[in-house]
Amino acid sequence: MKEKAKKMKEKHKILKTWEYEKKPVDKGYNNRTLYVNLSTKEIKEKPVTKEMKKMFTGGKGFDLKLLWDAVDENTKWNDPENEINIAAGPVGGITQYPGTGKSIVTTVSPTTSIPIDSNVGGYFGPYLKFSGFDALEVQGKAEKDVILYIDGDNGKVEIMEAPEEEINSHILAEQLIYEFADEDTDMSKKSVATVSAGKGSENAWIGCLNFGFWDIPRKGVRLKQAGRGGTGTVFRDKNIKAMVCKFSDLHGMENNPADPEKLREVGQKMQQEVINNDPKQNRMRKVGTAHIVPIMNEYDLLPTHNFKYGQIDGAENCGEEAYEEVFEDSKPDGCWFGCTIACAHTIEDFELRTGPYKGDRVRVDGPEYETIAGVGPNCGITDREAIAEMNFYCDTYGLDTISFGTLTAFIMDCWENGILDEEKTDGLSFEWGNWKASLELMHQMARGEGFGLIAGKGVLYMKEYFEKNFGADREFLDKIGMECKGLEYSQYMSKESTAQKGGYNFAIKGPQHDEAWLIFMDMVQKRLPTHKDKAEALYYFPLWRTWFSLHGLCKLPWNDVEPVGNDKTEDPAKVEEHVTNYRELYNSITGENIDKEEQMLQIERVYNFQRLLSLKLGKGQRKDDYGALRSISPVTVDEYKSREERYDKQLKEEHGIDPEGLSVEEKLEKTIDKRMESYEELMDETYSRKGWTNNGVPKVETLKKIGLDRSDIIEFAKKYQ
Ligand code: SF4
Repeated sequence: MKEKAKKMKEKHKILKTWEYEKKPVDKGYNNRTLYVNLSTKEIKEKPVTKEMKKMFTGGKGFDLKLLWDAVDENTKWNDPENEINIAAGPVGGITQYPGTGKSIVTTVSPTTSIPIDSNVGGYFGPYLKFSGFDALEVQGKAEKDVILYIDGDNGKVEIMEAPEEEINSHILAEQLIYEFADEDTDMSKKSVATVSAGKGSENAWIGCLNFGFWDIPRKGVRLKQAGRGGTGTVFRDKNIKAMVCKFSDLHGMENNPADPEKLREVGQKMQQEVINNDPKQNRMRKVGTAHIVPIMNEYDLLPTHNFKYGQIDGAENCGEEAYEEVFEDSKPDGCWFGCTIACAHTIEDFELRTGPYKGDRVRVDGPEYETIAGVGPNCGITDREAIAEMNFYCDTYGLDTISFGTLTAFIMDCWENGILDEEKTDGLSFEWGNWKASLELMHQMARGEGFGLIAGKGVLYMKEYFEKNFGADREFLDKIGMECKGLEYSQYMSKESTAQKGGYNFAIKGPQHDEAWLIFMDMVQKRLPTHKDKAEALYYFPLWRTWFSLHGLCKLPWNDVEPVGNDKTEDPAKVEEHVTNYRELYNSITGENIDKEEQMLQIERVYNFQRLLSLKLGKGQRKDDYGALRSISPVTVDEYKSREERYDKQLKEEHGIDPEGLSVEEKLEKTIDKRMESYEELMDETYSRKGWTNNGVPKVETLKKIGLDRSDIIEFAKKYQ
């Protein structure tokens, strides 16, 4: 492999080299970012000021600040002005605490036209930081495929043409690691981190990025995904084949923390907690997030058949136990050093049954809950191997598994309702459960042909296309097409949970659970009985969940492992002990002494800023926060009938409507009306709690109160008061 890689490397043509002064990280920050313009080949550093740190903290905050300065109201995803920004945050890159190596990617999304942010594992973000930069900002478009290389060992950045390498990530990432590693040793290969997309990203708008790294225990390449909103599509549109960052001297204290003793103390306590508690709690180390499948199925909340129902026969074939059987668990599977939760499981030596790599035996990185539920039960599929194969191909093609699952479920629903037939789908037959058709659709996206080209543009595009070209009823498509703001829903069935409806549809970037995941608190634990409780949760949790992406952290160690006695605290869902840990980590690294109030203000500033940036790009008002009707209510007679007793009871007890003597159609109509009334009330209450206008825009007084008071931001917000 090394010889082959050497030959490919010889074909590289260096287009630009820029050298920079190497400096150690100073208490979590480099105080500079790296700017690269692929059109002009300009490479330079930009200063990070005290004001920038105060207002935007780091990570996603820096990404969004740079994006705000780069775009205007007219910027589209495929304009050269659009950027791909990647940052690790001030805490990111430590190895003492679990879940601390995340990179945060932002760009203007092809499917939503507003900023998307994705939080991803792998080594790139930490290596970028240790190479000298708090964020990477890439603008412009290259003429031909290029690799952007950041050599953190030698203080050099290069743009190079790279004609020989593959595009699909499972091959490309390995080629790059062999090319850029100094020697053919594990330690040397570990020093190279990659970012790449795949053939699917070239043709579909749901492209994702793969963050590749060399896994020493497994002696091979691992891929983690920045999945949502088309980051891979923007990447390939810019003609970026890959980004590579090399950093060799990793020893665990690169952040140069202000108080290393305190950092060790907080880290050791948490590491011990994971070792003691995870085996008795969620067993993340054994099964990862696959443990969620049976819980959701039991509570009738697992999305099945395009979010129509909440349970599926055969869920046990694709749940916790099914994947525990095939996950290879003899090695610790962390996506950054020091993560004892180690939930990033793999299926090894998996033989592919379809596609260009049919017959190859490969490593499948996953599947995780969202992938299982999306490409599986939501499409009526429970075949463990088919789900694993879709996971593999989505990753290597650079396609988002969540969007792929939701858009395929929409296609199957359209098929069932007679909107699609074989003539319209180029011969593919989309009955529920037809995993072969799902996989062929995916291969078409990668080949850039057939119905896959239409489907790959996402649910919003398909709704418009089916209406225009197939005469489909748009009102019906808006009911069943599961997108909000253009982003496909992730995999929780929100229509029975008022709090989760808001969690999804008020999410700034679109319905992704990382902003607000309240379904468990609302439906399983029954902790949010009133609208006021739900609005309070919709204020607090989206804010708190923003913390992780400001700092380069993984959310899972916050509440997927809980301290002993957490259930006896005043508000167990907040896991306050871990919130305190995070504050202590930040203080011990930066030397600051922030309290709980300032911790929340850090978040609130970036959260409100993201809403304003979305507004600047066209979606950030009340009208944008409704989503698909099926996210709020049952919308078909079938759905109503599947839970008739429960819905009848709701009509009677919650709304004072006697269902006796009403037809199912009438009961459905009244249910929709009542659910919409309640949803509007939830919006009023939540916007008010957030300090927003009734139109969903942050009030100027709120911006001033939280310290987001830069004049251009205030002037922009004033236009919408
Ligand atoms: S908890 Fe899992 S996803 Fe999070 S950092 Fe650890 S291995 Fe990665």
